[in-house]
Amino acid sequence: MILYVADSPISGHGVFSKAKIPMDEKILRYSGPILGVQDIKLSDEDINKTSDRYVQIGRALYMGPSGQMDDWVNHRCNPNAGLRWFGDELWLISIWDIELGQEITFDYSTSIGPDDPWTMSCRCGCVVCRKIVGAFHQLPVSLRQFYQSCGVDLVNHWVSR
Ligand SMILES: [Zn+2]
Repeated sequence: MILYVADSPISGHGVFSKAKIPMDEKILRYSGPILGVQDIKLSDEDINKTSDRYVQIGRALYMGPSGQMDDWVNHRCNPNAGLRWFGDELWLISIWDIELGQEITFDYSTSIGPDDPWTMSCRCGCVVCRKIVGAFHQLPVSLRQFYQSCGVDLVNHWVSR
């Protein structure tokens, strides 16, 4: 495994690379249980702790925490990775060359559909930080097009169907 979990300057724990990873490589498979929105019962306290571990994969459909490393991938507004389907497998893909020791991040908005009101305040520290992370359709058109060109516009996978 070329990845490891460590304290993150962004938030809590994060996933880091032990090696250089070229652009457009599979990095980490997301393997949590698939849950309907009605299956997710979180208290207000839990939401702050665990909500980022639920990845929206369809209308009212989520991939829950796996207990594995994929639970620890942080959001960044200027990320180096993104999520893409390969058949029925969901993978985190590098969208830039990743350097040794760099934290692996993706833009959570790429997985937040128009039916999900969830938002998160962001202090990722990058110069393009949006401060509030929300649904994909609220992103600037140019950013949505960029994620689409990288093949990591996860929401478009199901919204357009
Ligand atoms: Zn940010």
